Amino acid sequence: MLAARSLLAALALAATPAAAQVTAIRAGGLVDPETGTIARNQVILVENGRFTAVGANVAIPAGAEVIDLSQLVVLPGLVDAHNHLALTYKEIPEHNSYYLTYVLDGTPLRAIQAVSNGLQMLNAGFTIIRDMGNAGDYADAALRIAIEQGWIPGPTIVNSGIIIGGMGGQYWPTPEMARDHNIVYPEYLDADTPDEIVKAVRQNALFGARVIKICVDCKPWGYTADEIRLFIAESAKAGLKVEGHVQTVEGARRAIEAGIWSIAHDRGLTPEMHTQMAQKGIYRAGTETPISLTGHTTPQRYEATVTGLRDAYEKKVPLTFSTDADYYVPGKTRGEVAIEFLETWKAARIPPADILRAMTVNGYRVSETYDRRGLIKPGLVADLIAVREDPLQNIDALRNVRFVMKDGVVFKRDGVMTPGAFFHGGPVNGWNIR
Ligand SMILES: [Zn+2]
Repeated sequence: MLAARSLLAALALAATPAAAQVTAIRAGGLVDPETGTIARNQVILVENGRFTAVGANVAIPAGAEVIDLSQLVVLPGLVDAHNHLALTYKEIPEHNSYYLTYVLDGTPLRAIQAVSNGLQMLNAGFTIIRDMGNAGDYADAALRIAIEQGWIPGPTIVNSGIIIGGMGGQYWPTPEMARDHNIVYPEYLDADTPDEIVKAVRQNALFGARVIKICVDCKPWGYTADEIRLFIAESAKAGLKVEGHVQTVEGARRAIEAGIWSIAHDRGLTPEMHTQMAQKGIYRAGTETPISLTGHTTPQRYEATVTGLRDAYEKKVPLTFSTDADYYVPGKTRGEVAIEFLETWKAARIPPADILRAMTVNGYRVSETYDRRGLIKPGLVADLIAVREDPLQNIDALRNVRFVMKDGVVFKRDGVMTPGAFFHGGPVNGWNIR
């Protein structure tokens, strides 16, 4: 009888769902980048990796783990809309020429570098990265999958797979390189005909791309507006958008005419192009290198970049924060390199609220995570960061991220990475995530 009763009790216990652990965050300030406002003394509840309640009068349930950020300002995580986590070229030994990086560093090493760069970005508050190619043989997809399956911590990765271009991609291979398909391959997928365009898009989709990246005008012949339309149509079948690497005005004109999703780099973006981008709602990932990153821009180039960014802002082009970071700056982490780009945005006299909007809301939109991840709202995945001052007053507050939560788990506390809870001996979120 006693045995039967305890069996029943055990069954009753098993039938009762285990109470989910609730985390309650006390935020001294909470920034809403959509409205450009800050609310004081807020409580944020997190359960099963998602926000469940946000507000000043939210009751903290009994048994909740309380995280006290009452001395900090909480805000949504940042987005770098154009980074290259699996590429790090350097002054020594390759004189900052990534042709040589391709020779020296194979895909397995670059995949491990990508893990490290991803951690460095997350540590700096970037919870979403669009990783836009130059990742060897799909190191970018491996990184995304490893993070999503639950092996390692990292930002949410929106990766492009291999950049698609006409023969040679961004480079001018020697005939031997092209014939033997080495050195600059697998950095670029050749697609010179409509059939090859379709096949290249399908290959990237098959191997785990979440966005398609094309070289619009890396060669004088480049892609026509019709060819870009074919990229867009084929990518859409896989649910993917297309970003164009653009370096000339004519290339920008063709990409805009075709209705591309986003344009990387600012060299081809004249005031006329900005007007058209604003009309069509095409995202600008201008990759505005600051003058302080010596050797990666020139005074003339920087001046043009600042002027162009200002013009795009005035014309209401959808602006994203993007760095094109793919190099080592001695003494800086990849995250510190990325946040340095604030310098250019300040030089363009863009108000902090609008810089923050580019780094958050527009980043979620260009990444297509807006409906499930980004803002601090009930129902969305629980990513957030905290800094010491209100970034709406002083945008440089973002240079010192004290706290990072990703997927409802604390990654950084009191300015120190504490990523232990993210490491697992297996694919805890599912082996079949690809
Ligand atoms: Zn790039």
